[in-house]
Amino acid sequence: MGGYKNRILEVDLPTCKMDMTDVPEDDKRRFIGGSGVAAKLFLDRFNIHTDPLSPENPLIIMNGPITGSTLPGTSRFAVCGKSPLTGIWGEGTCGGNFGPELKFAGIDGIIFKGASPKPVYLSIEDDKIELRDATELWGMDNYTITDFLKHRHGKDKKPKVLSIGPAGENLVRFASICNDKGDFIGRTGMGALMGSKKLKALVVKGTKKVEVSYPEEYTTLRKLLVTKSRDAVVAQSFRSMGTDAGMDLGMMTGDVPIKNWSIGEDFQLSANLGGPSLTEKYLTRNHACSFCPVACKRVVKIDDGPFKMEEGPGPEYETCAAFGTLIMNDDLAGVIKANEWCNRYGLDTISCGATIAFAMEAYEKGLVTKKETDGIDLTWGNIEGAIELIHKISKKEGIGAILSEGTREAAKRLGKGAEEFSVEVKGLEAPMHDPRGFHGMGLAYMTSIRGACHLMHLCLGVEQGITTYPEAGFQDNYIGQSSEGKAEMVKRCEDLGIPCNSLMICEFVAWTLSANDLAEMVRVTTGFDFSLKDLLSCGERTWLLKRGLGNMMGASREEDRLPKRILTPVGEGAAAGSVPDVEKLLREYYEIRGLDREGKPKKEVLIKAGLGYLAKKLHG
Ligand code: SF4
Repeated sequence: MGGYKNRILEVDLPTCKMDMTDVPEDDKRRFIGGSGVAAKLFLDRFNIHTDPLSPENPLIIMNGPITGSTLPGTSRFAVCGKSPLTGIWGEGTCGGNFGPELKFAGIDGIIFKGASPKPVYLSIEDDKIELRDATELWGMDNYTITDFLKHRHGKDKKPKVLSIGPAGENLVRFASICNDKGDFIGRTGMGALMGSKKLKALVVKGTKKVEVSYPEEYTTLRKLLVTKSRDAVVAQSFRSMGTDAGMDLGMMTGDVPIKNWSIGEDFQLSANLGGPSLTEKYLTRNHACSFCPVACKRVVKIDDGPFKMEEGPGPEYETCAAFGTLIMNDDLAGVIKANEWCNRYGLDTISCGATIAFAMEAYEKGLVTKKETDGIDLTWGNIEGAIELIHKISKKEGIGAILSEGTREAAKRLGKGAEEFSVEVKGLEAPMHDPRGFHGMGLAYMTSIRGACHLMHLCLGVEQGITTYPEAGFQDNYIGQSSEGKAEMVKRCEDLGIPCNSLMICEFVAWTLSANDLAEMVRVTTGFDFSLKDLLSCGERTWLLKRGLGNMMGASREEDRLPKRILTPVGEGAAAGSVPDVEKLLREYYEIRGLDREGKPKKEVLIKAGLGYLAKKLHG
């Protein structure tokens, strides 16, 4: 098997004991890698019922077989465990450079078990692996600790760094994990899980190669795919304007949420916050994750004014919407500053922006007053107030302590009808794509394993017509504001998108390739006899496995829902009057997926997918 190093490092934090283990070859064939293999590991070895912040909950970092292979978009790795934010299966993925470097050190993944009695960080330099004291580093923000560790370990070659900031240390439930200042595992609070283990950072340097099974075919495929990825229209758009390139188009099609999802159109906001504006006013250069010809990342600088900032990572579309349209702020410099603070503290910008939008609506309705905010004015559009809340959330100060629990819990604690405008699914705040404009995305939010998610499937690209995969059975185009045929589309999107998450290829790069290309990447790298049919079967099997895990952790039919706010039509804009037909979507989807009335995969469906052991756990 090429691609894999066949070594997973297990670190027992209480005893500092370390072992090299591996997963069975069969699991690699059936779940490929990344979050697929991590979910299987969790099911086999760990306590499903544990509290997410208990030492019993493992933190699993996992590469895919193509991570670090130099095929395009292969920089990604996954971080998984039971989510401190949702209480069910949690996972996040990240680009950047840490995953490939870990592979170069000869390691496919790391499992952290237990919790350390004092702050530590893990240093890996090929086969020299040690846990080191991080007491003096505790409290540093992500930018500071990254610079510090790069300097300390960077004599011959600069290491790659993975770290948490104060938000993770303080167990903010939507804390993120940072890779080299610019890339983040944002969703589902994996930073809080890392903080609960008193694990401040990982530093890695490696010198080994990633061997592939069919080198000649690999070289030919690589050349072809790099050209395809580089030249695709969406790649050119992302390269010149970033992922925020499409905010104007999103406004025209009803994709962009505004004022905590309560209104449907504001072109002034999108003009000020979109990719062209960011590029013209603040961009200093592009940046790319390792092995990526698309290069969608933004590096920005603000020369003067209240949000003056040295050159650093700029916001992506999700952040521009979360700290822009969602809170009615049209000051892009303020968004960039909010992004910098979230990065430094280690906060998921989607959940954080969404939670602040929720707080602004609570303030407008009088559920929260200046007395509770310690004088902060939370009027819509006040980005200075939003930034002050970021500080409070990270430190769990005053109202920040309630908001640090996420919108679902904050709404419960505030009461007085606050649940009416809390916009989350399964406890995960919705990302910046409105299901009223694209009904399939609504179903994908409802059925995504980790809660409202725009990335564990290829729905965003497929339903919006950015990409199409005819060889995988998709139609040429879909009507956004229709629920017709969407159950089947979403299942196909999941069955193709989930193996992308196991392979650990960037979704934006996957949009530029064909479904057959994705299967070929697995075949030439690993040597598995692997076709598109196998890739889709792997997607279905992994979805069922993760769904079963979610069921056992407490997710049921009742959690497959959209929040009331999203089911309330907006009165203006492209999606005016449109809402997904939830009953139809779920009825058809349950039928196609083979789910029972409680939302569990049926026994016979699991057995057919080769998941008999899961069927036994779920159905007895
Ligand atoms: S498209 Fe963007 S996010 Fe994806 S790998 Fe390339 S630079 Fe990274």
